[in-house]
Amino acid sequence: MTGVQWSMNGLECPQCGAVRIVKNGHAHTGKQRSLCRVCTHQFTLHHRRPRISPDTVALVDRLLSERLSHRGICRAVGVSRSWFRRHLQALTKSVPHALDPDPPGFPRG
Ligand SMILES: [Zn+2]
Repeated sequence: MTGVQWSMNGLECPQCGAVRIVKNGHAHTGKQRSLCRVCTHQFTLHHRRPRISPDTVALVDRLLSERLSHRGICRAVGVSRSWFRRHLQALTKSVPHALDPDPPGFPRG
């Protein structure tokens, strides 16, 4: 398996944060497209979305556990509704009993 270079340019997948990124042709705009080999998310280098920091994600999860309204959480934390929806979907995929009001080991305080 020579010729395949993982983590070119130190790229990270904007979706899952993995570094197994490969080139995947070009978009019709001529921009280099990249493909995450972990979650198969496709993205272009110049299409930068505002990154949601792990701290922000933790805060969102904490507010969710406090049963705040989704709109209120988005406003308070400053994330978009579309990101929030994706985050909820990811939660329900990864955790069978999502939105447990007090997950074990969740840092309080
Ligand atoms: Zn990925």
